[in-house]
Amino acid sequence: MQALLLIDLQNDFMPWGALPVAEGDQVIPIANALMPKFDLIVATQDWHPADHGSFAANHLWRKPGQVIDLHGLQQVLWPIHCVQSSFGAEFVKQLQTDQITKVFPKGTDPEIDSYSGFFDNGHRKATGLGDYLKDQGVDSVYIMGVATDYCVKFSVIDALQLGLKTFLIEDGCRGVNLSEGDVAQALTDMAAAGAQLVQSSDLLNSN
Ligand SMILES: [Zn+2]
Repeated sequence: MQALLLIDLQNDFMPWGALPVAEGDQVIPIANALMPKFDLIVATQDWHPADHGSFAANHLWRKPGQVIDLHGLQQVLWPIHCVQSSFGAEFVKQLQTDQITKVFPKGTDPEIDSYSGFFDNGHRKATGLGDYLKDQGVDSVYIMGVATDYCVKFSVIDALQLGLKTFLIEDGCRGVNLSEGDVAQALTDMAAAGAQLVQSSDLLNSN
């Protein structure tokens, strides 16, 4: 059983959002085109309380891009984004969400961030996504979304560690590139961890 995993296709990560990923909106038509190819489609949703520790605004004198120690973990500080029930946290309007089987919120604990759709950044709590895929008999996941160098990368690495055969849909991802070369490095890291890099056309042209 194969599943499509859509990472954080939310307004705040689009060019019009609070934490914009360049060209992030260009992957929405790819997601829409791929969904009919899968029986199981799961989406992650960054879903932060307003007092979330990843927001620079919640730390005195801090600004986005700085790195702090957040309860024992290195944390990049971000602009306020994906606050629960805000427009920024909603899925992009053009995304055909009626085809999504199940949504997994992440980053709901103010004390710890969660880049991966499977676990928080300290691997302290699971979101339930791993168990859900196992219960559904999923053995292969195809992953796409934003951002390549954060939530996509960490989801891919966790999927591999859970023993899932993991494919990264390269043209279905866009990255932040906080430092130049971050996206290229993320692709290298994911491939080194065992992910197979594919293009959406490989899937659309197959049966
Ligand atoms: Zn976030």
